[in-house]
Amino acid sequence: MILTPHILIGAAIGAHLDSWLWVIILAVISHFLLDIIPHAEYPIKDTPKVIMDFSLGFLLVVALNPGFLVLLGATFAIFPDFLTLFNIKAVTRLHRKAHFLRKKNFPFWGRVLIQLLVSIFALALL
Ligand SMILES: [Zn+2]
Repeated sequence: MILTPHILIGAAIGAHLDSWLWVIILAVISHFLLDIIPHAEYPIKDTPKVIMDFSLGFLLVVALNPGFLVLLGATFAIFPDFLTLFNIKAVTRLHRKAHFLRKKNFPFWGRVLIQLLVSIFALALL
């Protein structure tokens, strides 16, 4: 999934929990669960898109609910994607496995729509 839905779901987790440890754990788990859902993505090395996506997600979070745990959840929800940049074998393998539905033939508009719905759902929880 692109960064914005991950950031928003992580932020929503942070908005509803009081424990920083659970926020981190559930935000990271949410990343892998969201990546299971068929979705459209751009290459992680497309820096302009990464910057725009990252900025959009965090601007929305800061504008709506800039609490510490909210920002912590938002940050750790994209942590697995950040770790893939360092080619850590275990993380890369787990991340690749989470995308097991990638090869299925879901229509592009459906893969975009699911990310939009996830984002709207998360925004409603912020
Ligand atoms: Zn990912």
